[in-house]
Amino acid sequence: MIPVPASLAPMRRFLRRKRRAGLPIILMYHRIGDTAGEASSDPWGSAVSPARFAQHLDILRRRRVVLSLRQLAARLAAGTLPHNGVVVTFDDGYADNLHAAKPLLETHDVPATVFAVASAIGRPTGFWWDELAAILLRPGALPPTLRLETGGTTQGWDLGAAAHLTAADAEACRDWRGWQPPPTPRHALFLSLWRWLRERPDTQRLESLDALRAWAGDGARPAASPRPLTGEELVRLAEGGLVEIGAHTATHAPLPRLGAALRDREVAGSKASLEARLGHEVRAFSYPHGEHDAASIASVRQAGFACACITGETHVRRHTDPLCLPRIQADDWDGEEFERRLSQEFIA
Ligand SMILES: [Zn+2]
Repeated sequence: MIPVPASLAPMRRFLRRKRRAGLPIILMYHRIGDTAGEASSDPWGSAVSPARFAQHLDILRRRRVVLSLRQLAARLAAGTLPHNGVVVTFDDGYADNLHAAKPLLETHDVPATVFAVASAIGRPTGFWWDELAAILLRPGALPPTLRLETGGTTQGWDLGAAAHLTAADAEACRDWRGWQPPPTPRHALFLSLWRWLRERPDTQRLESLDALRAWAGDGARPAASPRPLTGEELVRLAEGGLVEIGAHTATHAPLPRLGAALRDREVAGSKASLEARLGHEVRAFSYPHGEHDAASIASVRQAGFACACITGETHVRRHTDPLCLPRIQADDWDGEEFERRLSQEFIA
């Protein structure tokens, strides 16, 4: 392939933007909350402050045609995608989706879909990735070695320089994101543990987190990380019809790496569990970490979902598979930055 001169790159970006201008966008949020007072950082960029979320909604209302995921899926099926359409979604099912996000969605009359992890509903502790960040990414010293024994396997880590994280380093790395190179040995350890835990079955992850808290000296302390919705909060979130509940598997398992039986249990099981709580059909799904393959798409179709979301910085097009709807992650951008990115169709 002939290399493209660097001087042509801005022109290419311009043409890509122009081609995609006005195609519908699906935005992905997770938590609506302030992280300023929290001891650890937000390595997955999952928190947007309520003030900034309100700015995003105000801009979307003025600049785009806001519609629900259900409406977008219907327009996709009918071949009538709306010009400048935008859909708001949330992953995981945090309690703040009810307490902080829903009042703002109501104020701005913006519909949204919340994809909840079924087994996390009502759990008093936070999601495992938040708990891990709370243990690992706050400043201080940790024991020099770590051994986790679970499911008949033992994994060991020698911390070396990762045993120490200074307050200055923790503060300087607050804006670090997990998809960037780790800036300190402690951040590298965090990523190593995150990858290891991600592949464990849920019961083993919970055991390992208990062990990690005890190892870090947090055994007696209550979890400080944001918690999932309770069953009662889930029902309240869906009340009024502005917020639709979707499924995000039973345990947030990476579907492409599961056997057929387990995969179907994660997909169909989460649908049945949420429907039992809500008393109505759950029609939308999102793949944990956006990870999907032909088998997981087939499993989602077989379970009876009408549409499903992945991740990926692109738009919904005429021929987009309704079971692979791309979404763009919204970060904690202020109104000016959000508007700038929106005007560039979120293409860097
Ligand atoms: Zn998720």
